Amino acid sequence: MTDKPQQFDTLQIHAGTPPDPATGARQVPIYQSTAFVFKDADHAARLFNLQEVGYIYSRLTNPTVMALANRITALEGGVGGVCCSSGHAAQIMALYPLMEPGRNIIASTRLYGGTVTQFTAVFRKFGWSCKFVDIDDEAAIRAAVDENTRAIFCEAITNPGGHITDLPMVARVANGAGVPLIVDNTSATPYLCRPFEHGASIVVHSTTKYLTGNGTVTGGCVVDSGKFDWSAHAAKFPSLTEPEPAYHGLRFAETFGPMAYTFHGIAVGLRDLGMTMNPQGAHYTLLGIETLSLRMDRHVRNAMTVARWLEADPRVGEVTYAGLESSPYFARAARLCPKGAGAIFTVQLKSGYEGCVSFVNRLKLFSHVANLGDSRSLVIHSASTTHRQLTEEQQRKAGVAPDTVRLSIGLEDTRDLIADLDQALGE
Ligand SMILES: *Cc1c(COP(=O)(O)O)cnc(C)c1O
Repeated sequence: MTDKPQQFDTLQIHAGTPPDPATGARQVPIYQSTAFVFKDADHAARLFNLQEVGYIYSRLTNPTVMALANRITALEGGVGGVCCSSGHAAQIMALYPLMEPGRNIIASTRLYGGTVTQFTAVFRKFGWSCKFVDIDDEAAIRAAVDENTRAIFCEAITNPGGHITDLPMVARVANGAGVPLIVDNTSATPYLCRPFEHGASIVVHSTTKYLTGNGTVTGGCVVDSGKFDWSAHAAKFPSLTEPEPAYHGLRFAETFGPMAYTFHGIAVGLRDLGMTMNPQGAHYTLLGIETLSLRMDRHVRNAMTVARWLEADPRVGEVTYAGLESSPYFARAARLCPKGAGAIFTVQLKSGYEGCVSFVNRLKLFSHVANLGDSRSLVIHSASTTHRQLTEEQQRKAGVAPDTVRLSIGLEDTRDLIADLDQALGE
């Protein structure tokens, strides 16, 4: 092994997972153990004081889960990562060190439906709030920033429309406001989009989707670029810059530098919120990531073929896939996601709401499920399911209309996918 930075295809198999130091096992063992024996009382004390990094208890750290966090961190080009039980857990974990009652974030209107609900209903209970803005409107984002803003949040490739967010522009606004840009990179994966190279400070993932890749386990991950200077904005981020009573007055930013946010995520976030990923789940996701680039190339190719076919069909209205030249996001996709615009998009059916319902019912190969990023092709009528909790106004802003279905294109042969779509579209 050399110190030369390795390529993505190598990292997705090797990063974070040297042969097991205890047994030489080449694949990462599933460390199905709640607790880890201390060498002696002094070792235990050093671990509890954060003077030494090691394993105490699996709510905080576990070797299998750490291997996954380290691999995702390497793929994103970050300095540290924390895995948790779901993508939604990752969002709360990402914000927890930054927020306090009375603080707000600014988020895109074009988000996963569950995220809009979390940022509205859950935030209210925490005393946090969220201002939703059109993420393409630089002036609107700027205008929404106030003295209580602590982060800007968006998706790189948005759910459900597959729109591409102008990350360099949003990062510029965040930078000017002195707050981190948090990017949900679930739909893009680090293979298609590299938010840290476009100015994001933090990336969150639902590992449930493409990273695991076959719809087996839920999980999430928070990755830090290590580039946001918490000390330069000390008054805004007291959890990271002020003395922490639970650790003898230790200041995370001063003690851990670029690793402050990650250490806080583990030593405070996981310790207190308990949104822990289990080692069995981490194992499945580690297996999935080994083939991430191969799968994403095929997802993109299949999405392109299916989107082109749909766009040419007279029964179909708008197809929002950013890989199509007709998309207003085509040029941006080429710039920010040069390997492809992902594999989710929405399709408007000329047969309207009722047409969408019968379309979904007639499909045989496409599964009607509330998921995306599976090896199987999936369909959902967002307006009656994932975005059901949203008001009509929120639905519209999220890119969800009653006559629209969302497709997540899988890894099957596109001839079979197109045949299924063709019969389901009916007359
Ligand atoms: C699924 C999803 C989430 C939520 O993740 P869970 O693992 O289901 O909690 C968040 N953001 C996006 C873009 C998603 O697709």
